[in-house]
Amino acid sequence: MNGIDREFDREHIWHPYTSMQDPLTVYPVAGACGVMIELEDGRRLVDGMSSWWAAVHGYNHPVLNRAVHAQLESMSHVMFGGLTHEPAVELARKLVELTPEPLTKVFFCDSGSVAVEVAVKMSLQYWQAAGYPGRHRLLTVRSGYHGDTFAAMSVCDPVTGMHSLFKDVLPEQVFAEAPSCSFDGEWDDACLEDLQRKLERHHQSLAAVIVEPVVQGAGGMRFYSPRYLRELRKLCDRYGVLLIFDEIATGFGRTGKLFALEHAGVVPDIMCVGKALTGGYLTLAATMTTSSVAEMISSAEPGVFMHGPTFMANPLACAVANASIGLLLERGWQDEVLSIEAGLHKGLAPCRGMNGVRDVRVLGAIGVVELEEPVDMRVAQDFFVHRGVWVRPFGRLVYLMPPFIITPDDLARLTDAVRAYAAL
Ligand SMILES: *Cc1c(COP(=O)(O)O)cnc(C)c1O
Repeated sequence: MNGIDREFDREHIWHPYTSMQDPLTVYPVAGACGVMIELEDGRRLVDGMSSWWAAVHGYNHPVLNRAVHAQLESMSHVMFGGLTHEPAVELARKLVELTPEPLTKVFFCDSGSVAVEVAVKMSLQYWQAAGYPGRHRLLTVRSGYHGDTFAAMSVCDPVTGMHSLFKDVLPEQVFAEAPSCSFDGEWDDACLEDLQRKLERHHQSLAAVIVEPVVQGAGGMRFYSPRYLRELRKLCDRYGVLLIFDEIATGFGRTGKLFALEHAGVVPDIMCVGKALTGGYLTLAATMTTSSVAEMISSAEPGVFMHGPTFMANPLACAVANASIGLLLERGWQDEVLSIEAGLHKGLAPCRGMNGVRDVRVLGAIGVVELEEPVDMRVAQDFFVHRGVWVRPFGRLVYLMPPFIITPDDLARLTDAVRAYAAL
């Protein structure tokens, strides 16, 4: 064993959002178990990221491992056109049961971005079928993030999503101000004014409004009032526009509810899930909708929904998703998230008022320290690895979203490191 060839990696492999000419260090990982990421050189890092919201049960979980092994013994994949299988049926049944009543139709996708593409396409096909082909734009709010494919990118924040790079090819969508009312602050109708104005002005060309409910993730790690979603639902009904919730980051307990929409008691017409769906094991997402949307799409030419990824409903991914959802419900994720929320509050509160810290906020198993200035990634990455934690900031945001199984001691190591970084 010569170890991982870092030279080759540097020369030939593109990492996410990275220069090929001047890449940041990447750390070779030999394994991961529980909340620990084990580097090749033997160092162990407490994971503060859940591999981008996904690994809610930590790594190398025996139950999830067994689910993948067992599925592998019968089949790893078959095409989903004209065929079906037990893992997909079981997963669809679980998703229909766990989400609010009218969301009863499930389309399996191979990644979150594709789930967003599918949601957008559903909304467009809906209006085509309804005889309003002019309704083909989307309305969203600033500071959002919905993925990196083109339709998804078109509804990401125009600045952090770098719309200027692709302005000639991106569909031009309608943007309202980001929700300004905080999660549990005083409600003010003013925070909806811009959105309402835009809906009024553009509704005849709009297919749908798309938002991340309650928590805006990679677009800014912002939390906003559930009331905003209730008002938004009313406005969408008034103007006859479909509502899409992107729960890809928020789904499966992260915000303290199984789905963030439960904070508001609001149901969208279309909803995307992904990331933690498989407990971080394999790539899988789903777009769910109501029978009324599904029937409209199916009632007009061409009478079918025009999408079908090669690895749609991959049995390995569905099997591990079933096991992951089973674990989540069995183990009492609510208590875990509540205890993480308390630990994050306690551990990050001292950052408030520190020089260079703009805001500290916690919701469920998400803790954010927003700085005044963007983080120098070279410094930050090294700093955290030296302290034995895996924390990967972006922009002005240093944030934690650990696996739900983390112990109070390991959580304290994460918050200690973030505090030490903020104090630099
Ligand atoms: C990560 C994310 C996506 C994209 O999912 P991928 O699996 O990375 O394509 C879409 N929406 C939200 C809210 C996300 O956090």
